[in-house]
Amino acid sequence: MSGLVKDLARLIGDNNVLFQPEDLLAYANDATHYFRTQLPDAVVLPSSTQEIARVQAYAYEHQIPVTPRGAGSGLSGGATPVKGGIVVDTKRLNRIVEIDRANMVAQVEGGAVLQNFHRAVEERGLFYPPDPQSMSVCTLGGNVATRAGGPRGVKYGTTGNYVTGLEVVLPDGSVIKTGGKFVKQSVGYDLTHLMTGSEGTLGIITGVTVRLVPLPPAHRTVIVVCETLDQAAEIVSEIIARGAVPSMLEFLIKLAITVMNNYVSQPLPTDGEAFLLMEMDGTPAQVESDVQTIKEICRDMKAQEVLEILDEKAAQSYWNARSNIYPLIMTIFNRCTSEDITVPRSRIPDLVRAVQEIAASVGIMIGLAGHAGDGNMHPTVLQTEINDEMAARANKAIELMIRRGLELGGTISGEHGIGIHKQEYLAWELDQVQIELMKRIKAAFDPRGIMNPGKIWVEGGAQ
Ligand SMILES: Cc1cc2nc3c(=O)[nH]c(=O)nc-3n(C[C@H](O)[C@H](O)[C@H](O)COP(=O)(O)OP(=O)(O)OC[C@H]3O[C@@H](n4cnc5c(N)ncnc54)[C@H](O)[C@@H]3O)c2cc1C
Repeated sequence: MSGLVKDLARLIGDNNVLFQPEDLLAYANDATHYFRTQLPDAVVLPSSTQEIARVQAYAYEHQIPVTPRGAGSGLSGGATPVKGGIVVDTKRLNRIVEIDRANMVAQVEGGAVLQNFHRAVEERGLFYPPDPQSMSVCTLGGNVATRAGGPRGVKYGTTGNYVTGLEVVLPDGSVIKTGGKFVKQSVGYDLTHLMTGSEGTLGIITGVTVRLVPLPPAHRTVIVVCETLDQAAEIVSEIIARGAVPSMLEFLIKLAITVMNNYVSQPLPTDGEAFLLMEMDGTPAQVESDVQTIKEICRDMKAQEVLEILDEKAAQSYWNARSNIYPLIMTIFNRCTSEDITVPRSRIPDLVRAVQEIAASVGIMIGLAGHAGDGNMHPTVLQTEINDEMAARANKAIELMIRRGLELGGTISGEHGIGIHKQEYLAWELDQVQIELMKRIKAAFDPRGIMNPGKIWVEGGAQ
């Protein structure tokens, strides 16, 4: 047992420290499994803010890297401990502290699993819309740290639109509380939203306060089968322009539907090239009116088929299969790299065309699904083999797609964050002045550069 492990055991108890190689291996990467670079030296499983603060103060004193981790479902390598040190697994901080109906807010611990939180608020007739598709495992702290989105972003916005307050353990072990239950605040810099999207580089989020909305009383699923990717992209733009905004509007290609069909109660037709999976929510009258508008649009734009799914079980099976599309595709291909390029909605057809052209010119398969309603596409580069030639082609395709996304007025990441996966493209989107400013902010929070080092910008933060 190393000195580090002994010290950590003394600080939070020996049952709460992992150090065996097989345990360390499980914490060496996130869902981007191919980014494993180095094992952590130890993993801690604290159960309280105080325990995290003790570990953090110790790491600060000894200048040991600390990587915060929720479920490790990230798709940018953010929770990967690239410089070893301590991984802080937050999953035991999983309490839903309060659901406050009068103020329409809730307070949860940073390691609470999103789906458990959804269920708890929905049982009370309330609704927390952000819905990253990893919701069965991902944590609220991880969602805040990545500013996570999901299909409902099109109508409801993403995590950043709901966070009103945080409890954070800073790199030196001090604890701050930002914001609160109120919905507005004008008191100096907005530290709540500075922490939101900070990818574990400024501190560890131990408490989250979010606002809630009323649970919509009705919803309906509609699936549109389109002849071409272009047609699907144009229908998306028209639906939004006509104001019938679905609560979820997902874009899928034939490959995705073919995979999903193995897991749904009634298989979908696969004779189209592109598919739109939508849910409308609201009052029954609003849902009915939106469904009619969408049917009209699809008729006018000559969609191949429109399926209204009235059987709730069947609808749920399509959404479950959609949520699991990434793990399902992983069972077929050896490596899948999911991008999250986001463009202004009107440029979706251009992005879709570009992805098709890039796949053909580079000679690699690129799956295409995404939260089309908010311009956030997930072109996923699919590798049938792991070898240098395939890897070079995959990198080329990613580079070209990112370049094209920026040319279309988009961003390199709509919801996954930069982590280590997109570091080399950061300067393609942000000018040097902004990057330097971010580094100075990092240095102000973390003068010793111990907090999730090696992330966001290439040279490793403020070190
Ligand atoms: C199948 C699948 C579907 C997905 N779908 C979506 C989607 O629809 N939308 C979307 O936005 N993302 C999606 N993701 C990506 C991922 O689930 C999200 O980024 C999620 O927010 C990560 O949460 P986590 O708890 O797993 O965090 P982790 O992966 O453990 O960590 C992510 C980052 O946050 C930091 N972090 C984690 N917890 C804390 C904390 N308490 N305090 C400070 N920093 C912390 C980590 O250091 C790391 O940088 C998907 C992933 C998978 C595998």
